[in-house]
Formats: sequence, C-alpha cells, structure tokens
Amino acid sequence: MKIINTIEELQTIRKELSGTIGFVPTMGALHEGHISLIKNAREDNDIVIVSIFVNPTQFSVNEDLDKYPRRDAADKKICELCKVDYLFMPEINTMYKCDDEVLIKAPKISSFILEGEKRPGHYDGVLQVVLKLFNLVQPSNAYFGKKDAQQLSLISQMVKNLFLPINIVECEIIREQDGLAMSSRNVYLTQEERKEALAISKSLNVTIVSITKGQRDSKTIKDKMYEVMSNLDVEYVAIVNRDFEEIQTIEAKNTIILIACKVGTTRLIDNIWV
Ligand code: AMP
Repeated sequence: MKIINTIEELQTIRKELSGTIGFVPTMGALHEGHISLIKNAREDNDIVIVSIFVNPTQFSVNEDLDKYPRRDAADKKICELCKVDYLFMPEINTMYKCDDEVLIKAPKISSFILEGEKRPGHYDGVLQVVLKLFNLVQPSNAYFGKKDAQQLSLISQMVKNLFLPINIVECEIIREQDGLAMSSRNVYLTQEERKEALAISKSLNVTIVSITKGQRDSKTIKDKMYEVMSNLDVEYVAIVNRDFEEIQTIEAKNTIILIACKVGTTRLIDNIWV
C-alpha cells in the first residue's frame, strides 16, 4: 500500500492508473463500518483508494473538530490488511489553500431539515470536500454508509446535479453485537453512557417488529420510539421517504426512520431503511 500526502503525487499516480477505481472517503479512526465499505470496494474494483481527512469545513465552531479521534498508525495497518492500494492522508492546508474559495451549497431542502437543521453549514462542508476528493481521485465507484443517510442522499444528488461520472454505492450499517451502530464517536462514551445508548438501536428494533406485525402509522411508531428512548436526550425522530419528505404512513421500500440524540455530551445518529 502506498501512502500519499500531496495533491501533486496523487494526480501523478492517478494519471497512470487504469481499470476500475473504488474510492472510500473517511475521517479515520477506522472501525468495522469503514472496513465493510473498503471490503465492498475491494470486491468490485481493480484499484482501491481510501482517504482519511478530518474535514474542518463540515464542523461548526462548537463541535468536536479538535477532539475528533485520530488513529493514524492503526488506520494505516487496517488499510494495509484490507489490501488498499493507495491511502490518501492530506493535511488541512493541502486541501484548503485559502479561506475564500468557490463554494458548493447543499440544496435548501436538505440544509434545513434533520442534520442540516441541527448542524448549519455541515452539508456544505461535506459536499465541498467530497467534490474535491472526487475530482482528485476520479473514482468509478464511491462507497458511502447508510449510517449517514442524509449525507448519502445528498452526495447521490450532487453526482446527478453536477453530472459526475461516478457510481455511488450504498453500504449497509454495521453494528456492534449488542446493536449499537459503529461510529468513530462511540469512543467518547463512558461505560454507563455506552449502556444507555443501546436504547437507540432498541427503539429501531422495536419499530422493525411493529412494522412486521403490520403497524404503518408514523405517529404511533414515533411515540413508541420516544418511549423506548425516554432515558436519552432525543434531538429528533423522523420518518421520511427516500426524498427525505416526512411521511404519515410507512411505505415499504421507500421509508427511512432516523434518530439523532445526545448521550451525555456525545451526539449519535442511527437509522433503519424499511
Ligand atoms: P466517517 O469516517 O464517519 O466520515 O465515515 C466514512 C464513511 O463510513 C461514511 O460513508 C459513513 O457513512 C460510513 N460509516 C460510518 N459508520 C458506519 C457504519 N456503522 N456502518 C456502515 N458505514 C459506516
């Protein structure tokens, strides 16, 4: 595996590459969720490129940019074991040369609902960095987790709107054995909080059971979810279709049920696709 730190090196190498290129953008502190994306990329493509970059433009001032977990040595090992061909690890000033750049804006509908509402400017920053990375890597296939459902939807929309010749591959959510969705932020949880956080996946499991039994009413489902998560500081429970419009009735194969909540000071998100 070759580690690349500069734009020049990446562009020089990219020019020489042929065959299909699978790309997995991450912010590092890699876990089984990231590994599943890399494995999918490895299966589908001739070349696999992973990036690790904690992107400052998607964090607002009061978020966890400074304390975001960094595990460079362990991440390199994981990528090597997963047979990644190239690992791109740029510094901030490599990706951003000045403060006053051409910007890309998330569409209004996504900027003002759910994560977009709770984290103003977040998706502008995500799209800005992903577009830069796409332009550098020029992947055939790019892999994103359903864990970040709204992000996945926006990136698919960006690819469509900007005519990028890239196939976006949606990857399943990977969970701990007890149900907690894997996240780099789980390391912030104390033992006690870790236990409390299980109410999130429990509420999703209760929902799956009640949908299987025939329940279709969004309000009834939401009320039950809030009840299961009564020990948590829930920011939102949302039931939307694939276009992220709120729906009153569950539609098979066209529904996403999303949760954002705070456990202690840690903000966690999770969801299921029905
Ligand atoms: P991050 O490093 O958190 O920016 O995540 C990089 C990619 O990994 C994104 O596409 C995430 O959706 C995906 N990802 C993060 N956690 C999981 C998970 N538990 N299961 C599947 N994909 C995940």
